[in-house]
Amino acid sequence: MALTLFRRPAPDEPPTLEDELWPETGETWTPEGLTVVERYYNLANAVVILYTADHKEIGTYYAVACLGCHYLVTRDKHRTYSTRLTLEAAAKAANGHASTCRALARSLPARPDDDTARRLLRTWVLNMRRRDQDYYLHLRHFDSRRLELQRTDEWMHTELEAFAADRGDVLSATPSKYGAGIEYELLREPS
Ligand SMILES: [Zn+2]
Repeated sequence: MALTLFRRPAPDEPPTLEDELWPETGETWTPEGLTVVERYYNLANAVVILYTADHKEIGTYYAVACLGCHYLVTRDKHRTYSTRLTLEAAAKAANGHASTCRALARSLPARPDDDTARRLLRTWVLNMRRRDQDYYLHLRHFDSRRLELQRTDEWMHTELEAFAADRGDVLSATPSKYGAGIEYELLREPS
């Protein structure tokens, strides 16, 4: 009965040695800074998560990531004006992926230390610059990297403001003209 070696523990059973060997695959994982809204199993019991890093009530941006393969979707390519992934579209994508993906669960992404997280964020910002124009940078532009970053919005604001203070040639941070918060403008690459 090989299966009994790897059976899942019932919630009210005391933990046993076998349970402790059972790795966390994302069934209860709550990465820092994100809200996991739904979870699905793929065909090999790897978890597909539907998450958001956006805490608005209306018009929230959702994303889907597979913790088996590297499937990750943050945009709805069927839409033209706004590519925001709605909850309905995200659920459809998550369910669709889960019903066809056969990848086994991989290790959950490790939470980087602060220095590494800061370096990642700064590298992404530099790589997001355009040659032709300045543009407003929003936290949602990092949605596809949040599983890697594992930091709160507050941490990101603090770091982006610090980056703007260090590198005024790359990023400006000013109080929003439209209410509370900070506006970030990513300045074009010098030609
Ligand atoms: Zn997958």
